[in-house]
Amino acid sequence: MANRWHTVIVGGGASGLAAAVFCARALGGERVLLLEKAPRVGKKLLATGNGTCNITNRRADSSHYHGADPSFSIAALSAFPPQACIDFFASLGVVCASREEGREYPLCEQAAAVLDCLRLELKRLGVNERCESAVIAIRHEKGGFSVVTADTIFYAEHVILCTGGAAAPSLGGSAEGYGLATTLGHRKTPLFPSIVQIKTDTTFVKAVKGLRTDATVTFVLDGKSLCSHTGELLFTEYGLSGPVVMQISRAVGDWERRKKGVMQASIDLLPAMSETELIEHLKNRPVHTAEDFLTGLLHKRIGQTICRAAGFSLNDTIRDHGRLVAAIKRFTVDVTGTQGFGGAQVTAGGIDTSDVDSVTMQSRLVPGLYLIGEMLDVDGDCGGYNLQWAWASAYAAAQAVSR
Ligand SMILES: Cc1cc2nc3c(=O)[nH]c(=O)nc-3n(C[C@H](O)[C@H](O)[C@H](O)COP(=O)(O)OP(=O)(O)OC[C@H]3O[C@@H](n4cnc5c(N)ncnc54)[C@H](O)[C@@H]3O)c2cc1C
Repeated sequence: MANRWHTVIVGGGASGLAAAVFCARALGGERVLLLEKAPRVGKKLLATGNGTCNITNRRADSSHYHGADPSFSIAALSAFPPQACIDFFASLGVVCASREEGREYPLCEQAAAVLDCLRLELKRLGVNERCESAVIAIRHEKGGFSVVTADTIFYAEHVILCTGGAAAPSLGGSAEGYGLATTLGHRKTPLFPSIVQIKTDTTFVKAVKGLRTDATVTFVLDGKSLCSHTGELLFTEYGLSGPVVMQISRAVGDWERRKKGVMQASIDLLPAMSETELIEHLKNRPVHTAEDFLTGLLHKRIGQTICRAAGFSLNDTIRDHGRLVAAIKRFTVDVTGTQGFGGAQVTAGGIDTSDVDSVTMQSRLVPGLYLIGEMLDVDGDCGGYNLQWAWASAYAAAQAVSR
């Protein structure tokens, strides 16, 4: 029967494309069908790493992943570690190169090349790919599944569900895929944005919008430090962005959904200098008014803003160095929330992993159904960890389906 498949893969994103390659290599492409709702597969993949695709991270282990069960990722990451990812892409013709903090990128720095090589392999293997085919229902029946689109019903022995998360709706992210799993009995943990920009009180921040500086940012909830990171900070019209903030933004997303307590960002604008060194340094600076007192130490506009945040007016002569040191090392702004799923790279929360086998990604509720990628309650840190999860979970499911 033309519409009967060994495996139907629902969602042509990073995890679905990889799952299709793995399944087709083991089963033969003619037994595998990939259904994608968008006109083309891999739209989000094209935008990864600002178009350069941070494909994996050599440091990927479960300590970089989050969710209700942080140990859920261990088995899949052990079976398909970062080196396996690098080797897999080498087999497609994509050569990877190492960068800072264990990050791996394609040598050609083109996310489009990663997508092309996945698609070329699907073509070579003869995988059936149908775009503009949004799956609207999956029914579990005797002997398999009916996978329903607006105009066709496909029959499958196995279904791999990989419809992604709610982050980045402009790139196809949506919460609708979760509905396919929940109608089959799966539970969903609360969703919130991660790897996302942060909104703050803008009294001082707005004055320095557009400026970048190295900083240590600490998120503090009701006076207690939650997480801290050092790197490039970008001040914006609405608050804070840049890699340093994106990396630890998950804590703010989680707080925003709970709506409990006061969240602040404490910013050390001179992480390279200790407080004692800074006090010594300020004592010996030429005497200027606040307008220029910090010029040459910090960006002039940041220096002036810090003086104002410390309570000086720009024509004051600075004598109280202690107040200024506190403002430089602990510049504190009230956090009001995140930029939401619209600005987020990743969805935290998702399909409850206690109903999924961590070795095979098979549903514990519906035999023959597999759930992979971002739709599960697994999210990684910034730096290639989320794609690594997409590839590793795809490999786990494909291995099980092909056995
Ligand atoms: C701007 C941006 C940059 C990023 N950069 C990086 C990076 O450099 N490194 C990194 O590790 N991670 C990065 N990420 C995160 C990473 O892209 C995702 O975690 C990853 O794409 C998730 O893969 P997935 O297959 O689970 O979901 P997706 O890639 O989102 O794919 C899901 C697919 O399912 C399709 N779909 C949804 N519903 C249906 C349906 N009902 N029927 C049929 N098809 C459906 C969607 O159209 C989509 O094509 C970035 C994310 C963004 C937004």
